[in-house]
Amino acid sequence: MPKGLYVHIPFCTSKCMYCAFYSIPVGTGDDELYRQYVKSVLNEAKMLEDLTANTKFSTIYIGGGTPSKLPAGLFYELVSGLREQFDFEKEIEFTVEANPESLSEDFLKAAIDSGVNRLSIGAQYGSDEVLRFLGRTHTVRDVEVSVALARKMGIENINLDLIFGLPNETSESWASTLKWAVSLKPTHISTYSLTVEENTKLKMLINEGRIDLPSVERIVELFRIREDILTSSGYRRYEISNFAIPGHESRHNLIYWRWHKYIGLGASASSFWIVDYELWRWTNVRDVRKYIELTSQNIPPKDFEENLDDNMARLEKVFLGLRLAEGLDVGDPFIAEAIRENFPEFVEIEGTKIKLTFKGMLVADHLAIDIADFLENPD
Ligand code: SF4
Repeated sequence: MPKGLYVHIPFCTSKCMYCAFYSIPVGTGDDELYRQYVKSVLNEAKMLEDLTANTKFSTIYIGGGTPSKLPAGLFYELVSGLREQFDFEKEIEFTVEANPESLSEDFLKAAIDSGVNRLSIGAQYGSDEVLRFLGRTHTVRDVEVSVALARKMGIENINLDLIFGLPNETSESWASTLKWAVSLKPTHISTYSLTVEENTKLKMLINEGRIDLPSVERIVELFRIREDILTSSGYRRYEISNFAIPGHESRHNLIYWRWHKYIGLGASASSFWIVDYELWRWTNVRDVRKYIELTSQNIPPKDFEENLDDNMARLEKVFLGLRLAEGLDVGDPFIAEAIRENFPEFVEIEGTKIKLTFKGMLVADHLAIDIADFLENPD
């Protein structure tokens, strides 16, 4: 089974109005903080030596936050340290996330020299006005320049992240964003429907009645537009939010959805691993200073850990597996048929696999809970 390595870099240029990921806005001149953080990540990696012995990782994903904010030399040092600490397969997928405003030639060179072969760019939308509203600090032109630069320097495997379901979003603006993204010829497009998270500016504006989210009908329409434009442009939806030119699906993210094991390093990162023959998940502390303090004393920076019991494992497997176009394998055609009978319109089956219909995809999370309940008590 493939295993993934994730590293969280929790620094951003500024905070986007909808973002609930752990990241702190940092300006220039924070090199000492970056240095301490990288050292801490490598300390954490060292602490996991015994647990990861005999493991060959298949993927590395450096995400955030904004990894492209790290100084190029420090990025190289980070990856060299990871390579010393862990074993990797020969042909790994190595992704780094970047935001257009901070993606420099120096950073890309260090990334490529470190083995990065996939770039995920936070493009978000094809309109400067919308980007400003979202609190992004880049422009449409910056995205185009980033894609061209990455390609010129030899990275062909490029993902663009897009966001939709925005206040006052029209079908036309979403369609033109998708067409713009396609025109840049990325190998992969991730499209996330805006969710309102606690403690965000977005939540505050909604609570104050200053903006409204689109209606359910509008969201369904935006989903349809996405499906039409991307599939007719040669992309295949292989997961609810993710489209790829066949053969360019994210190997790292498939590790999550297929319930394979991964180690996450850094503030707020999560791991899912087998410890003493049992399934464990843990999440690190969110606060960067706390993370640095703990790791510098060789204390595991865990904030929370849990041993997954059968019920949790079932719900999670259903929740993640249903998201994939390849479907959730329930291992028995009669059980698959019973699920189809109980959830007509929402799922279709192929042998022992359950796949979401378009309608099912729109309510996937609720459906996962109902299907997991059904699997626990089929009568
Ligand atoms: S750049 Fe990404 S991680 Fe940083 S604040 Fe914006 S959405 Fe959050």
